[in-house]
Amino acid sequence: MSEPIKRIDLTRDYEAHREEYLEAIERVCAQTAFSGGKYADAFDEAFAAYVGTRYACGVNNGTSALHCAMLALGVGKGDQVIVPANTYIATAWGVTYTGAEPVFADCRADTWEIDPGEIEKKITSRTKGIIGVHLYGQPFDYGAVKEIADRHGLFVVEDCAQAHGARFEGRNVGTLGEMGCFSFYPGKNLYAFGEGGSVTCDKEAYYRHITRLKNQGCDVRYYHDEVGYNYRLEGIQGAVLSVSLKYLPGWTKKRQEIGRRYLQEITNPLFTMQSHPSNTEPVFHLFVVTVPHRDDFVAYMAQAGVECNLHYPVPCHLQKAYGYLGYQKGDCPNAEYLAEHCVTLPLFPEMREEEICRVIELCNSYQG
Ligand SMILES: *Cc1c(COP(=O)(O)O)cnc(C)c1O
Repeated sequence: MSEPIKRIDLTRDYEAHREEYLEAIERVCAQTAFSGGKYADAFDEAFAAYVGTRYACGVNNGTSALHCAMLALGVGKGDQVIVPANTYIATAWGVTYTGAEPVFADCRADTWEIDPGEIEKKITSRTKGIIGVHLYGQPFDYGAVKEIADRHGLFVVEDCAQAHGARFEGRNVGTLGEMGCFSFYPGKNLYAFGEGGSVTCDKEAYYRHITRLKNQGCDVRYYHDEVGYNYRLEGIQGAVLSVSLKYLPGWTKKRQEIGRRYLQEITNPLFTMQSHPSNTEPVFHLFVVTVPHRDDFVAYMAQAGVECNLHYPVPCHLQKAYGYLGYQKGDCPNAEYLAEHCVTLPLFPEMREEEICRVIELCNSYQG
């Protein structure tokens, strides 16, 4: 039997760039620049340049990035923020942490991205803004969402945790909305050796405010002007991320090549794939398909030594944690369909040709 194929294998990146990563970590240790500090700052600068915003404010993870963005926009108790029902739960946590209420909107049946028509239906006098998610690396319809937001005086924040380097109408994600929130969790398109995140923006006021929030609420040490958090990016993570950032364009190209091959060469009519509008450049963070009998397909792949997993088996509006909001099954039917039928195929930049071919062949010979 051939070698097992993992859904994602980070060891190959480490093996390829081991020396460089360890040297970067060594420099941080030698200078004991552990919390924030020059290596975290240097990464912020490089990441802002990569994304194309004036500022990038490194934080300790993507969830904190979303929390800080909501705080900087003045979201709080009594407010509502519209978020997609089908996303990783952290998109909604940032809203909840402020005391505000996430309002879940369904996705479109074709792109699986937040449905602008559903956003419009959810707007109330309490709505402050919208967080769109570039889910699986596919940009959401920013043009349509922004048009609705402007008409109602709402902000748009981008959750870019899965979409480093993706573009909407030629513009990088993270430059479109008021702020872009990124995660560098291991397995994201750009990842730390631990946890990390960043908020990108052009407005100096947001940058300054988030810099204070992440740093215990102070601009001057030991003078705390507001309730703050310990959300700083670690120096080691900044140093590692500065190394990885150089490789990100190459990784993105590989992801796009593999993604396009899956789209073209997996022809089994049992599968439905995410659609990718021509005004977007997706980065294939996750390659998700839907299959009628999902669990059966996952078992079939596992038997052949291929690991698949699920993103995500329970939509946010039906999570127990949000039971208090009173959503019912049937409230977001497209998100619920996805949760019940989604499967994520192996995709990572270091996949070998024979692995890509084997995944395609196995998908095509699956009989259901
Ligand atoms: C990973 C992720 C987050 C959270 O990032 P962490 O760094 O894990 O806190 C938020 N939103 C989406 C869509 C994600 O995929």
